This record gives sequence, C-alpha cells and structure tokens, in this order.
Amino acid sequence: MYYDPVEAMDRAALEELQVERLKETIANARKSPFYGARLAGVNPEDFKTPADITKLPFTTKDDLRSQYPHGLLTRPLDDFVRLHASSGTTGTPTAVFYTQKDLDTWADLMARSMHCCGCRKSDVCQNMSGYGLFTGGLGIHYGAERLGMLTIPAGAGNTKRQIKLIRDHNVSVLHIIPSFALYFAQKVEEAGYNVKEMPWRIALIGAEPHTEEARRKIEEMMHIKAYNSYGLSEMNGPGVAFECVEQKGMHLWEDAYIAEIINPDTGEHVAEGEIGELVMTTILRDGMPIIRYRTRDLTRFIPGQCGCGRTHRRIDRIAGRADDMMILKGVNIYPMQIEQTLMAMPEVGQNYLIELVREGVSDQMRVKVEIKDEFFVEDMRALQGLQKQIAKNLCNEILITPRVELCQSDSIPKAEGKAVRVVDRRGEED
Ligand code: ADP
Ligand code: ZN
Repeated sequence: MYYDPVEAMDRAALEELQVERLKETIANARKSPFYGARLAGVNPEDFKTPADITKLPFTTKDDLRSQYPHGLLTRPLDDFVRLHASSGTTGTPTAVFYTQKDLDTWADLMARSMHCCGCRKSDVCQNMSGYGLFTGGLGIHYGAERLGMLTIPAGAGNTKRQIKLIRDHNVSVLHIIPSFALYFAQKVEEAGYNVKEMPWRIALIGAEPHTEEARRKIEEMMHIKAYNSYGLSEMNGPGVAFECVEQKGMHLWEDAYIAEIINPDTGEHVAEGEIGELVMTTILRDGMPIIRYRTRDLTRFIPGQCGCGRTHRRIDRIAGRADDMMILKGVNIYPMQIEQTLMAMPEVGQNYLIELVREGVSDQMRVKVEIKDEFFVEDMRALQGLQKQIAKNLCNEILITPRVELCQSDSIPKAEGKAVRVVDRRGEED
C-alpha cells in the first residue's frame, strides 16, 4: 500500500528518528564554513525532541546568497555531481549542490510522493516542466524513473508536440504547472480532441501558488485528477510535500525534513493549525544540509489524522509567499485571494493579471480577467453586469474595489514557466 513503510511509521518512533538525524545533521553541517562558524557553540547532545530545534538559529535566503557559491558545502567539490539553482523569482538566484547520495535520497522521496497520489510503475509519465536549472525537470524525472514509470522528458511549451506524445504513448500521468494546465486544456480542445478521450488520469501540479478553485477547474477542464506537489530548490526541489489520494493537504516527509510554522514577525511557533511561515530543516542531506530555512511560504499544519493512514503531518496548500503581500489603502492582500474569487466564477477563463498603478496620489489595483469564449462579446456594454459582479465579489474578499477589465481568452501574455500574477506599475507613467 505504501511505497516505503516509513510513511506510516508510528509517530513516537518517527520523532525519535528525527532527533537522531538532526544530531547527525548538526555534526555534518559544521563541516561547512558557514555552519562551522554559526553552530560553534551548539552541543548535539542538547537535542532530545524535535521541538529542541528551536535552540538553533534560522537560515535565510540572504545567508544563502552571502555564502554563494560554496559556503554551505560539507565536502570537497569533487564529491558533488549536480547543481541546481532556484528560478530567482525574488532576486539573485541561489545554488544547491548534490552528491550522488543526495540525488538518490531525492529520487526516493519523489518516487514516494508520486506513488502516494496513485502513480504506479505501469503508468507513463510526461514531464511538461522546463528542464535545466529548475528542479521540476530532473527532480520529477528521476523520481518517475525510480518508481519505474516510462518517463517522457517533454519539457515546457510546444503544445502540439505535447498532445502528440500524450496520444502516441498513452500518457497517464502529467507533470504540469497549474497556470499552464488551464491553458493546455483549452489548446487540446482547440486542436479538435475531446479531453475525455485523452489517456491521462493524473496531473501533478505545483511549483507555484494556486487555489483549490484553480485545481477544481483544472480537474474539470482536463477531466483528470490533480494533486498538489510542493518543494523548493533549497530543500532539493519537488518531493518535499505531496498530496495523497484523499486530496486533503500535502504530507510533508518528516523522515527527511523537520518542518516548523512560525509567526514571521516574532519567529515563535504558531498554535497548531494556525497559518504562518514554513521553516524547514534537511535531516537527510549529505553534501549541503540547511538548518531552519525560512521559506517565506505561508501555510499551516492540518490537524488530525489523514484517512490514508500515513503518519507524516500534512501542510495546507501554500497561501502565498510572504513577499507576495500587497498593501493597498492600508489593507493586506494576497494574489491567491483574488485567484480564489475569480476561479470560483463560471464565466472566468484561464488567466488573469493584477496590476498596481498610481492614479494621482493614490494606489489602485487593476485586475484583467480573461472571459470564456462562450460568455465573451465584443460590445463591452453587454458585459457591464459581469464586470460589476466580479468587482463586487473581489471587494467582498479583499475589502477594496479594484478596477476590473474583461478580456478575451488567451489575450493576457503567458509566462514560459511560473506565472506572473502581479505587475507593479506604480513607478511608471500611466
Ligand atoms: P524560486 O524561489 O526562485 O521560485 P524554486 O523553483 O525553488 O525557486 O521555487 C520554490 C518555490 O515555489 C516555493 O518556495 C514556493 O513559493 C513555490 N511553490 C512550489 N511548489 C508550490 C506549490 N505546490 N504551491 C504553491 N507554491 C509552490
Ligand atoms: Zn493522506
């Protein structure tokens, strides 16, 4: 039933394992120049429960940047076989180095993740994310092979070829970025195929924030089951937390990571079930351990047991990055609040864009929304009712009324990789 018996390990034993691996990690991390200095006064014997991890200092993205490229390595460069870099969504990229042992651990975690949402050896997996420095390429690839699936490294883009490969090779599992999945469904229909007749059954979606409403829309439009996949390069890449078939949160693999959720302002743990910043420690990484990494991703632990029997705690879908928060007229707004409202409306198509503009002395939000073809008409006056309704629904959620602009499907430019949801034009002339 499980890929690895550790998935259903008794909690007490799992926590014991975490402590043991944490101690090893501290000793190992100290071999790196960065942690050698930072953890100088720490005694591994002071760690008796996973909660003792709070005795250790945080590591931030700025620390990784300041140590670029080799400051966190515990071994000579010769021992490493792979390098990945984050996509640099929020500034200078950081590099992550892997030994062969690290790649093996990662492939195992990834295979386990795909198995837990129903992928099997007999499946054919098409990886539609970009290969290269982005971990969603090779990370998913080696995991899919480890599970034993026939794996097609299709890469990003080229919709026509993607469709042909899927049909020719009976592809049953897709790894696809959620913003692209919505677009792809439409392209498949436009190419004259019925999505219900496509061979696929499972979509692994992740790498960028998306709402439950977007997931449901993908499932409906593609006639597929979509499972949330979470990871970040600093913690290997994908395969950190993954949804099981229950679709009620993502199991975070606690034999490989210690996860905490903190109040980003105070650094203290939040109460169980409350939302905060995810902080992660690698406890199975050999060449480049990272301790108490501030991910900036906002989520919460889902209380209670999962119906699937796995004992590893679940995190809720990522509500956004702490860096994504917009402050407008004194109100805090996250892009996912907007997506949630839009995607719940049947008239709304696949794409939207939030623009922040300055009008006179005040800041305004403009939301461009693609409307499904069957609801779109050239004469904008006929769409005024819909436009007002969208503005009203948004106001109910974010407490300010944005200017809503309706547009035709496929008219908002699409990013090649992760979607760009917010454009800040406040520095530009309007
Ligand atoms: P970058 O930080 O430059 O985008 P990565 O490729 O390492 O580089 O991306 C990791 C980040 O992507 C995570 O920290 C998170 O913000 C986002 N992410 C990854 N998977 C998901 C997911 N399933 N849901 C929401 N956000 C995700
Ligand atoms: Zn489960």
